[in-house]
Amino acid sequence: MFNRSRRSLAHWFALSMGSILMLFAGVIYYQRAVDRLEENDRLLYTKARFMAANVNYEWRQGKEHFDLSSVPILGRYSPPSDSNLVYARWYSSTGRLRQFYGVQPSDQVQAIAAFETLQAHPEWLRQLTLPVDYNGRTIGYLQIAIPLTDAQTALKELLSIMTIAVPLTLGAISLAGWVLGGIAMQPIRNAYSQLQRFASDASHELRAPLATILSNAQVGLVSPVDNGKTKHMRLEKIAETAKSMSRLVTDLLFLARQAGQLDSNSIQSTNLNDLLKETLLSPSIQSNAHQLNIHLELPEEIIMIQGNPDLFRQAITNLMTNACKYTLPKGTVWLRLVSQYHRILIQVEDTGIGIPEPDLPHIFERFYRVDQERTRKKGGSGLGLAIAQQIVEAHGGRLTVSSQVGKGSLFQIELPLP
Ligand code: ADP
Repeated sequence: MFNRSRRSLAHWFALSMGSILMLFAGVIYYQRAVDRLEENDRLLYTKARFMAANVNYEWRQGKEHFDLSSVPILGRYSPPSDSNLVYARWYSSTGRLRQFYGVQPSDQVQAIAAFETLQAHPEWLRQLTLPVDYNGRTIGYLQIAIPLTDAQTALKELLSIMTIAVPLTLGAISLAGWVLGGIAMQPIRNAYSQLQRFASDASHELRAPLATILSNAQVGLVSPVDNGKTKHMRLEKIAETAKSMSRLVTDLLFLARQAGQLDSNSIQSTNLNDLLKETLLSPSIQSNAHQLNIHLELPEEIIMIQGNPDLFRQAITNLMTNACKYTLPKGTVWLRLVSQYHRILIQVEDTGIGIPEPDLPHIFERFYRVDQERTRKKGGSGLGLAIAQQIVEAHGGRLTVSSQVGKGSLFQIELPLP
């Protein structure tokens, strides 16, 4: 599935970039051709103007007299060695041929178009037919032509460079598309495998309590009617397992519903000093806090944030419950609120058992437990930290941890100042 998407991404990338490249190459080729033609036209025009300026014309006794002897090439001068004119022709005002140099043309001027490209053999020609005026009246036409060999050679060279460069660039683009496709697919691959792991963990976690409920119910049903104490024990076990399962399902639902951004209607101005004090009194913290020293450290000033107070209470409760659960009797747990220059910190620190270094990068993953057996006995499902992290991130903050085995852990919520 991923390889197909990667191939399709690379394919579309190569196709779009390839089309842009081809278009670009076409525009460059066209522009070069136009430039060369304009260069030739300028040269042709300058030559024609120079020749036309040397035509001597007179109107004597009701007749026109032409003297072309001073016109270069057409006149008595032989063509200069650097002249690349293929031919030069002089036509009268009625279009009749009067004088020429080069190939013998037809008697009548063919078309009086200024510039023309003629596909003659062996080379193409660029021809200019220039009307020559005297006192506002056209007295004749001068027609000259130069070969387009230089321009054709330059364009041929450009074309052969492009024939090599374009496929090579297309190959490089396809390769880049494949590599970029791989990079683009990586986060999707990770998200997909996370989702798969989550689904398999969730079904595994739900299967165990379901099996307990079922087996206890079955044993309860087959035990003798008078065996009241055993039945009571079985029912208690069923109720306990059902409670933990309902907690698990609630947590799962919470994670699914709270994914992404906060609902803007639930955001309100929240006094963090009061919120921390209230949270500390919550039954889930109190029930885990026997024989522990709990310290609440608040700053003198009131710290306000924009957020969802219920969600915040939930995140701090999860961190505090963990700190109490994983700290041995007579240990200490601190809940601190600190306001710094550009951020707010909420710290939950304990002198508990700590978390081994290799487990630290994973503890915010759903269902991750450092010691499966021990944490399951403490009633943990491995979702508490994932929920806390999701809440903090939805508020634009960061949840971090530092811990040392046997010394304790410090969980820190870092929030930007509102
Ligand atoms: P659980 O509900 O199992 O506690 P969490 O997601 O809250 O799940 O925590 C994940 C794991 O991180 C726990 O199983 C526990 O091993 C470890 N952990 C979390 N907080 C602490 C802490 N303060 N001290 C030691 N270990 C902790």
